[in-house]
Amino acid sequence: LTEITDNVQRGNYATLTDKDVAHFEQLLGKNFVLTEDLEGYNICFLKRIRGNSKLVLKPGSTAEVAAILKYCNERRLAVVPQGGNTGLVGGSVPICDEIVLSLARLNKVLSVDEVTGIAVVEAGCILENFDQRAREVGLTVPLDLGAKASCHIGGNVSTNAGGVRVVRYGNLHGSVLGVEAVLATGQVLDLMSNFKKDNTGYHMKHLFIGSEGTLGVVTKLSMLCPHSSRAVNVAFIGLNSFDDVLKTFVSAKRNLGEILSSCELIDERALNTALQQFKFLNSPISGFPFYMLIETSGSNGDHDEEKINQFIGDGMERGEIQDGTVTGDPGKVQEIWKIREMVPLGLIEKSFCFKYDISLPLRDFYNIVDVMRERCGPLATVVCGYGHLGDSNLHLNVSCEEFNDEIYKRVEPFVYEYTSKLKGSISAEHGIGFLKKDYLHYSKDPVAIGYMREMKKLLDPNSILNPYKVLN
Ligand code: FAD
Repeated sequence: LTEITDNVQRGNYATLTDKDVAHFEQLLGKNFVLTEDLEGYNICFLKRIRGNSKLVLKPGSTAEVAAILKYCNERRLAVVPQGGNTGLVGGSVPICDEIVLSLARLNKVLSVDEVTGIAVVEAGCILENFDQRAREVGLTVPLDLGAKASCHIGGNVSTNAGGVRVVRYGNLHGSVLGVEAVLATGQVLDLMSNFKKDNTGYHMKHLFIGSEGTLGVVTKLSMLCPHSSRAVNVAFIGLNSFDDVLKTFVSAKRNLGEILSSCELIDERALNTALQQFKFLNSPISGFPFYMLIETSGSNGDHDEEKINQFIGDGMERGEIQDGTVTGDPGKVQEIWKIREMVPLGLIEKSFCFKYDISLPLRDFYNIVDVMRERCGPLATVVCGYGHLGDSNLHLNVSCEEFNDEIYKRVEPFVYEYTSKLKGSISAEHGIGFLKKDYLHYSKDPVAIGYMREMKKLLDPNSILNPYKVLN
């Protein structure tokens, strides 16, 4: 667990003293200053990284976040902002002994306006809770992902999380209208806005969307939430080849375009692993090398159902789709989504898993899975691919019984070189965090990395915010 952090050289930061702890207790109250049972805050979701933080702080307001950061900046104490700790690149846990700044208490939905569709929410609100609140007034949060029951909206914004609806609503750079962020110095940067249109100079909010807690701590944001669709249909279909997958994707865009809200791919190994691990899952079809989950969301149930059935029928007639099921029943829709959501968890349930989240041109999307399977041979137990086909985003996974250095060397940096040659992205949606920082240059131009460093220096001159992450 610790081997990848063992050789990290601790930065030149101050060491926490009893006086510091007393100061924070005075500021927040004893209940919100934790010095014991910190295991859950120190270990990342994938259990690959264990930090050694001795202190977790739980502020209850922006002013408290500001006071904490001002103090830490003056004292040169390093800090890691933490949301739901579901990140998959080791960004949310300490690497050495950084103080964990948990946003969990900033969890309120402040307003949801059913007329404008604009919601204002604190950063520590759990995504699922936010969505439930939006649904009470007929809106929906334009972001959905498997970790929704524990990830925070502030964590989502800080990682520019993608998820399963990007094909319909775009990513958070479009949906987030405004951000409030606290800088390392303790200054509060109010970039809140309730309008789609606001071309008043540099669009600074974007710096905090996807910067993984290295430039500031997001405390609040406003988001444009679309009206919930009255009719949701899901198709789960089996296909014989990746070529058929591509043809079916084009057909979905052409024939379902205006109601298409998700287009996911699962290969048979990924599906079978989930089915083996979680007996409560039921796949409506089986025996195909590829599966696609296609969702439509519209306003007229009969019309949408007719369209999706026609789409499947035509695909079957052309021999591109082999079998499939369509449902608009909310319970069954959820059951099918559950299969997709459990796929990533199935792969880590009883194994160690090397996970890659890459953007690749659609025509070359799946080749890397076969290439990697051959490279790893019998060393790996499962090599599979699934992901957000509609966004050209593949999740390549290589599982083995436990961390295996031989596989590691066969997979990395090969997977990054391969992706770079195709001008893809080595991190489509999970971010760079700690695990990928040495590979940033495969997807970012050196001049751009130089300016990223300058920006970091400008906004966080003592580099106290999330050190050892994103930039090496
Ligand atoms: P954390 O893990 O706590 O933090 C992530 C990063 O953001 C860290 O660098 C942290 O320092 C920083 N951070 C957190 N909160 C703040 C804040 N308020 N201010 C500043 N920095 C902050 N990701 C996707 O993009 N798409 C998916 O489909 C997807 N599916 C997933 C499915 C599963 C089962 C799991 C476990 C994860 C999945 N993820 C996915 C990854 C993860 O859930 C997302 O990255 C999520 O956005 C992280 O949110 P969090 O609150 O857990 O953040």
